[in-house]
Amino acid sequence: MADKDILLKVENLKMYFSAEKSLLGKTLSSVKAVDNVSFEVEKGKTFGLVGESGCGKTTTGKCILRINKPTAGKIFYKGQDITKMSKHAFRSIQRQIQLIFQDPYGSLDPRQSAGSIIREAILADGKHHSSAEVTKRVNELLETVEMLPEMGARYPHEMSGGQRQRLGIARALACDPELIVCDEPVSALDVSIQAQVINLFKNLQKQLGLTYVFIAHDLAVVRHIADTIGVMYLGHIVEIMDAAEIYSNPVHPYTKALLSAVPITDYYVEKTRNRILLEGEVPSPIHAPKGCPFHPRCIYATEKCKSEIPALTDIGGGHKVACHLCTGATEAKS
Ligand code: SF4
Repeated sequence: MADKDILLKVENLKMYFSAEKSLLGKTLSSVKAVDNVSFEVEKGKTFGLVGESGCGKTTTGKCILRINKPTAGKIFYKGQDITKMSKHAFRSIQRQIQLIFQDPYGSLDPRQSAGSIIREAILADGKHHSSAEVTKRVNELLETVEMLPEMGARYPHEMSGGQRQRLGIARALACDPELIVCDEPVSALDVSIQAQVINLFKNLQKQLGLTYVFIAHDLAVVRHIADTIGVMYLGHIVEIMDAAEIYSNPVHPYTKALLSAVPITDYYVEKTRNRILLEGEVPSPIHAPKGCPFHPRCIYATEKCKSEIPALTDIGGGHKVACHLCTGATEAKS
């Protein structure tokens, strides 16, 4: 079997923010927003990162984009550790890694027309382009995101939410990216528009060979687009699996609870299935629990779960789980 072509590899990533400092500037407590996160993304595939808000998925995305400087860990893009790269060296690959925001309206300059926003992204490469070339490329990009060239004259406030998100995608594509970090790109859209934009992402991936890290809190949305899914809880990845397995073979108690909250359209299946209700709130990351981060809400928690962090372990075929019970390392209480 041919080796996988890994475009992005995140290794033991940690991102801690100082929450409290002494008068001398010493950190007294910190928020462990991302704690020992590892995953890899194959070229041309989608890695979905899912979890409740505040679980660290957006912070992970910001580290990949070098918006946040990680506390520890490595991020390899095409085999090079970008956390160690100088600003100058990173500039040469910066355009290859683009971001699509949750709120397209907030990320678009309201004083610029759609065409001008895309033009600016094309010209940011610093190369010489003739005016005719740029206009042709702007129109091509509008067509690529399924908008008419006439839309180039409109301003963001004259567009619908779906059109604004398409404009955000066109702007990212203007940089000829290979990797796009999509941070909740459809969560602000109506459900019917969400489906259209997800299909657009899929078509673009097929046409242009793009690789996505797709961040969302909605498991049903991620299931639609991702090849592999990583489930995050309180800064940790607790399960990584093939997206096709998410409904048929979820293993971690938290993944099962998340899934049981996803509505199923089949009335009879919906009526008969067991719902696992999560009790309590997600603990504060400033006072994160010792041991398994999920233990205060887990109905299977044992003494071991309260003191030892379970390692993310391969249980077969690349399906990885961080749970003492699921990896057979301890017995659950009945
Ligand atoms: Fe629950 Fe323990 Fe597994 Fe954590 S390690 S999910 S507390 S059984």
